[in-house]
Amino acid sequence: MKISQVEALHLRLPEVKEVADGTQDVLIIRVHTDTGLTGLGEVVSCSYVARAVVEAPRSAPFRHGLAQIAVGLDPLDTDAALAAMIEGTAWYGPGGIARHCISGVDMALWDIKGKAAGKPVRRLLSEKAVELLPCYASVLWPQDPALVAESARRFLAQGYRAVKYGWAPMGPDPTLDVALVEAARNALGPEVELMVDAGRVWDVETALSRAELFAPYDIAWLEEPLKPFDFAGYAQLAAQSPIPIAAGEALALLEDYERLIEPGGIHIAQPDLGRIGGITQGQHLASYAQNNNVRPVPHAFGTGVLLAASAQWAAALDQPLTEYTRAPSPLAQNLAHHGMQFKDGLLHLSDAPGLGVELDETVVAQYRIN
Ligand SMILES: [Mg+2]
Repeated sequence: MKISQVEALHLRLPEVKEVADGTQDVLIIRVHTDTGLTGLGEVVSCSYVARAVVEAPRSAPFRHGLAQIAVGLDPLDTDAALAAMIEGTAWYGPGGIARHCISGVDMALWDIKGKAAGKPVRRLLSEKAVELLPCYASVLWPQDPALVAESARRFLAQGYRAVKYGWAPMGPDPTLDVALVEAARNALGPEVELMVDAGRVWDVETALSRAELFAPYDIAWLEEPLKPFDFAGYAQLAAQSPIPIAAGEALALLEDYERLIEPGGIHIAQPDLGRIGGITQGQHLASYAQNNNVRPVPHAFGTGVLLAASAQWAAALDQPLTEYTRAPSPLAQNLAHHGMQFKDGLLHLSDAPGLGVELDETVVAQYRIN
């Protein structure tokens, strides 16, 4: 089997707002093969730039786009394809946008690999992969504590066992920050896990004082309180924080993850499979993290394609859990059909081969930018 075409589908809402919601503008990869099998992946990046990285025509050696590099490769040999893509993009890689785009192609190759084997990807990753995957609802903070309470009561009624709120208005005001956390905890009650995503707003000292203020509310983890590449800061904070520290969604290279995870580092690693090099590199990261007693939990704030890939990968982890974005964007909610059913805090995974996900072509046609 050979890769015959790599398509970059760029989808964007007509109106994109200044909020930390990456589901307003997305890049989906569709890989075609000479057998007719196709696979889907998602690139989590700056979509305009990423699209150019995929589509750039041939130029001098190492200066062509990823589609040109991938066509002709064997989609079933994911290790060799990854190596070829890393080498082929070396002039503008290895990290950043090159790795983000490689991630989308790798994900699509795993989709094809699963379809060719007639198995869901999770069963290619581990014989012990779960069928019922714990997930946590994930949204941005509502604007004030009353709205937080309303939102949390809704999640509770829907059966969620874990909920994460993130980003603004959390940050500048400790009184408001505590009020947001308190409103969520009071509405969720003592049984539901609560995670807080600070959104990269503090220095170590401020993060530590917030962690101390939040500790009485039984927080499962405090996510990205610092800038993503502040490795020394994360080591210092994780050593002192009364709440487990989670980070890593922005990183693309395993080498950077190693700096974040080194003994004494963070407690929860949050690779985004749409940035870290897809499922192939996700597997390397999972081994590295678990060997260092760090729990990997995928960052998955994208469309149903990323959600499905993350769920398949997470199902094969030692402590399975995935992010389940509840972002309202039609690209997050309607772009992809997947057979997963949410019930009582668990995603019931489907037996469909590959990633088990298909695009809704009506939604593609509605939002695609040509
Ligand atoms: Mg986050």
